[in-house]
Amino acid sequence: CGIVGAVSTRNIVPILVQGLQRLEYRGYDSCGVAVHAADSASPATSTRLKRLRGIARVSDLGTQAEQQKLVGVTGIAHTRWATHGAPAVANAHPHVSRGPVPEGMSGEQAADRPARVTLVHNGIIENHEALRAELLARGYFFTSQTDTETVVHLIDSLYEGDLFQAVQAAVQRLHGSYSLAVLHRDEPHRLVGAREGSPLVLGLGSDGQENFLASDAMALAGVTDQIVYLEEGDVVDVQLGKYWITDRTTQSVTRPVKTVHAMS
Ligand code: GLU
Repeated sequence: CGIVGAVSTRNIVPILVQGLQRLEYRGYDSCGVAVHAADSASPATSTRLKRLRGIARVSDLGTQAEQQKLVGVTGIAHTRWATHGAPAVANAHPHVSRGPVPEGMSGEQAADRPARVTLVHNGIIENHEALRAELLARGYFFTSQTDTETVVHLIDSLYEGDLFQAVQAAVQRLHGSYSLAVLHRDEPHRLVGAREGSPLVLGLGSDGQENFLASDAMALAGVTDQIVYLEEGDVVDVQLGKYWITDRTTQSVTRPVKTVHAMS
């Protein structure tokens, strides 16, 4: 239903929560946020993907994020309007992939492993059943009833060290409608988006560094008015101070930057 994402040098949790609040009027049944959080074990060098989800209001998610001192410079957030799988915490986005389960590992141990990929999705994946069967056969363990979870495992299965390339490859396998915002554990300053049949915009931060994604420019009101409307089939690589867009043939393209005066 609603997507917000950010790559910055400051804590973006409040921006993600406010962005969701601006999209709340569209209605939703659950919401969630995931960020690259500093790893308390080795804060200087690594991050880990940390996620909060709930079937309560966005404001409660914000309170929870404050209480848990959720902080991150890169993150994604979502309000869900369920199409596949009941409204429930397990079906709320962001969804994660921890990789295929090694032989002999228990379900509990498997669920304890750190997330490698996390994403939010708007729309419907029409071929989710075939993808689910394929990914189950490859050892992926599903924790939700959503069509979306197939996409996160698919991206994990295609990842070879470059999230942008993995998403480009994954969207070739998707039928249906989607806007996506994706993070990978090993790329803490990168956010990848894609769209087909569902809207997604890129927002360029005023400091020339931070960049954003949203399903509607309105989510970024007060944050930036410099908006790039992605076109059908586009995949976007969002980084600090730069971005890169490719079209459905994976050719790099430029899209116009528009100044949008969103209602605030
Ligand atoms: N089909 C997805 C789900 O049911 C996404 C729904 C949405 O657009 O919010 O989780």
